[in-house]
Amino acid sequence: VRLGIFGGTFDPPHVGHLMLASDVYEALNLDRLVFVPAGQQPLKRHHAAAPPEARLQMVTELAGSDPRFTVDPTEINRGGLSYTVDTLRWYAEHHADAERFFLLGEDSLLQLESWREASQVVRLARLAVLTRSNGGEAMLDDDALQERIRRLGGAAALEAIRVTARRIDVSSTEVRARVRERKAIRGFVVDAVARYIEDSGLYR
Ligand code: ATP
Repeated sequence: VRLGIFGGTFDPPHVGHLMLASDVYEALNLDRLVFVPAGQQPLKRHHAAAPPEARLQMVTELAGSDPRFTVDPTEINRGGLSYTVDTLRWYAEHHADAERFFLLGEDSLLQLESWREASQVVRLARLAVLTRSNGGEAMLDDDALQERIRRLGGAAALEAIRVTARRIDVSSTEVRARVRERKAIRGFVVDAVARYIEDSGLYR
């Protein structure tokens, strides 16, 4: 089984996340992609605008009944700061036979050294480093990427894989701003998420 693990704040989840999930699913030939909404992310200075339960609900709406996708509430259920290493450890224990890929943007890769137990992170799952199909050059060439992983994890580090995925010009920040400004968000998020935001009064 090939399992993709896609963490994020998802505040709110938008069509960029969905297209990314779809591209990665195909590029890595996954059997399942799991969205893992974070509690509070240690390296983000600001708290999420929406409460964890609301973000979890919206990610569930984003995934819908799509058989490719599931949603994992463990980081939110654990509460407090969310550390990737805890989540990857859980997957290593409960899905020991799966080939596990942890999705990571190239920008996040640059701060990997400052993550809790970074040496374990690169041993517990293969990093699937997202490279923009429409964003020009990769920041790190492949040799530099593997070198970085090995420096962190030593001989037990799992070789990273580069995944080309499109990046749509939309962000959670933009969606929140549009809601605040009473602009339409149809097309920026899936309809069920738009409805949730509307009904709950989030981001106003
Ligand atoms: P914010 O605007 O609040 O910083 P965001 O839109 O970047 O949020 P996150 O929940 O932080 O959303 O995203 C999780 C991951 O999804 C990011 O690390 C990034 O790799 C990816 N991602 C975010 N936006 C896009 C997009 N428009 N296209 C492709 N991938 C995206």
